[in-house]
Amino acid sequence: MIADYKSSEVPRRYLCADCGARGVKLWRPAHDDSPLRCADCACARGGIDGLPINAGSIDQDGRRPSSYGRTDQIGMLLPAVPDEEGAGFWGYTSVPDAGVLWWRRLPSRRHASFRGEE
Ligand SMILES: [Zn+2]
Repeated sequence: MIADYKSSEVPRRYLCADCGARGVKLWRPAHDDSPLRCADCACARGGIDGLPINAGSIDQDGRRPSSYGRTDQIGMLLPAVPDEEGAGFWGYTSVPDAGVLWWRRLPSRRHASFRGEE
């Protein structure tokens, strides 16, 4: 998976494992590159406490209020920012600025009428 931070296109396999949403922000497990999940599917699975998270509370930057302040994590999931070489995803604290901006530019949520169709 290779990202181009100058483009608003997403890599071909950058899609939600649950609903197939593409072209939106995705999250990944802290210690793995898959499965990737969109905000709605990640929130439906719940936070660290197992309780569902309101996907509507996620802002355009992919952040939401939590008991620890605003966060871009959803439960145990981290923002999934692919690198530009195809090596994988950046570690949570090592994403370059251009990668952060690329991820933030993506819509935070799939369209309300999304049904997993192209
Ligand atoms: Zn999804």
